Amino acid sequence: MSKIKNIPTWVSIPEQSDFSVQNLPFGIFSVGKSSPRVGIAIGNQIIDLAAVAAYGLFVNLNFNVAVFEKSTLNDFIATGKTNWSSLRNRIQELLNEDNYELKSIAKEVLVPMEKATMHLPVSIGDYTDFYSSREHATNVGKLFRDPENALMPNWEHMPVAYHGRSSSIVVSGTDIRRPSGQTKTSAATAPSFGPTTSLDFELEMAFIIGKSTNLGDQVSTDQAEDHIFGMVLFNDWSARDIQKWEYVPLGPFLGKSFASSMSPWIVTLEALQPFKTDAVKKDTEILPYLKCVQDFNIDINLEAYIQPKNGEEELISTTNYKYLYWNYCQQLAHHTINGCNVNIGDLLASGTISGPDENSFGSLLEITAGGKKSLSLNNNVERKFLEDGDSITLCGFAQKDNVRVGFGEVTAKILPQ
Ligand code: MN
Repeated sequence: MSKIKNIPTWVSIPEQSDFSVQNLPFGIFSVGKSSPRVGIAIGNQIIDLAAVAAYGLFVNLNFNVAVFEKSTLNDFIATGKTNWSSLRNRIQELLNEDNYELKSIAKEVLVPMEKATMHLPVSIGDYTDFYSSREHATNVGKLFRDPENALMPNWEHMPVAYHGRSSSIVVSGTDIRRPSGQTKTSAATAPSFGPTTSLDFELEMAFIIGKSTNLGDQVSTDQAEDHIFGMVLFNDWSARDIQKWEYVPLGPFLGKSFASSMSPWIVTLEALQPFKTDAVKKDTEILPYLKCVQDFNIDINLEAYIQPKNGEEELISTTNYKYLYWNYCQQLAHHTINGCNVNIGDLLASGTISGPDENSFGSLLEITAGGKKSLSLNNNVERKFLEDGDSITLCGFAQKDNVRVGFGEVTAKILPQ
């Protein structure tokens, strides 16, 4: 693997910032009462792309820069991969320490992040949630089903998934109201109704479709990267008691569909290329359509923090995207193998990402063994599941050769029912 090129810049970027010159993630932001528009994060600032375009600095780009005035990224994404790349190259050129074109108008086109409101970056038509962490699937299988045969027989042969609900995906910072639903404990003779008593987070990542397909088309594993725009952090909130009672035989429904949270900045696949790493070793032979010419994953450090009501924020999980058994190419190839079409803006989530040891579990379900033991926090605070007023924050970043490409965070607080 070649070293990542260092790009000296005139912009002041705090040390350990997720948003380096090598990153340049896309988001939708607004300031005050201005309408939401497209921005790129750099350090602790946002490049207002529509403003940069108005100064004529994008005249050599081969697409209509009016897409930067839109309130979602869908139209920009639709301009295609070559244009994402040209824009990225142009921004890196403008940020170079020897370039004065953008520097001379910096005050007009750079917005401090603290002044901006971030919005949902894409219009999401469809949302699918995979189940691609072997460790998570095994842990959940032991808790919900059979400790001896935790992994279902299909699991090592396909990236198992369910269709989620896109309407309830919200951007980081949006409060989550505790859902109510139907539950039944194994001791009870009849189900009851009320607010969930086992509200949980799921540490996930998701990728955003960047190129639509037609009904009937299949996307092979080696074409898959051409159909993906970028990635985000994703918290797939889950009500375990509702889920446990409802999920047989058709899978998750109301225990999941009340809300999912996503980070506001989409890190492009191009920015993530230098962080590719070896795939998890597979002992079971897989069908040809799921094989990659060169199997890989991406080395992205992931963390989950809890801030209990009136308490201090604490790290409760450290895991990595590279632990996933199935990579995003295999997920997309499987998703389209029956001819199901995908559209720009669709969100395909990884499933909870757990690692091999107890500090790397991506949900409270696993950390507390289904509520059988307590998670001990500072000041004698204990949690089995989330309480009203608790916040969960997920962070993620890739780092190599002193270059950091990060995702910022996805955070949300639980409100009472
Ligand atoms: Mn999930």
